[in-house]
Amino acid sequence: MKRILVIEDEPQMLLGLRDNLELEGYDVVTATDGEEGLARAAATSPDLVILDVMLPRKSGFDVCRELRARANATPIVMLTARSAETDKVLGLELGADDYVTKPFSITELLARVRAVLRRAGQQKPAADAVRIGDLEVDFQLHQARRGRTRVEFTAREFELLRYFVQHTGQVVTREQILNEVWGYEEFPTTRTIDNFVAKLRQKIERAPHAPEHILTIHGSGYKFVG
Ligand code: CA
Repeated sequence: MKRILVIEDEPQMLLGLRDNLELEGYDVVTATDGEEGLARAAATSPDLVILDVMLPRKSGFDVCRELRARANATPIVMLTARSAETDKVLGLELGADDYVTKPFSITELLARVRAVLRRAGQQKPAADAVRIGDLEVDFQLHQARRGRTRVEFTAREFELLRYFVQHTGQVVTREQILNEVWGYEEFPTTRTIDNFVAKLRQKIERAPHAPEHILTIHGSGYKFVG
């Protein structure tokens, strides 16, 4: 049974979400402010978090930022009250996986939840070998070849590619890439990421200037498509 943590301060909304999610067969845990939400996330290890943006004590954005800063990769679906584009973009930049704008239909929210859980389930902790177009990549052996031709990658390029593959279909921000591929102790600029992505595209894309695998998501980051 999948466990969902709902962080929402409006009692009616919280009740409605709980009822509908339970009807769908989810185990539901709730919190009514940001601080409680963070505590619950740590204590109950949910499979997904539904997170309202406007919350007392700590906003949904802060909760999202803190979860990711703690290397908590639990999928997050944000509930944005305003239809402002900035809210959506900020949520995704902070590491949310998806969002719905209030007022939303419960059917739409349930569909998003299912989709995000499905994507998370497909994510392998470490892919050993993948095929990207006509390129065969073996992460274990640190080798890549196109037909009989060996394609050379630096160690960092391999790590970056592996990170993209592990997050197939998800938007990843430059900040996430910096934190997870370069690590907190190193401080390259986000420009470095773009340069590495350009090099990866040269090696994996058929047409690097019209990429089919590493897509630029304007204002957010990148999305890898297998
Ligand atoms: Ca609220």
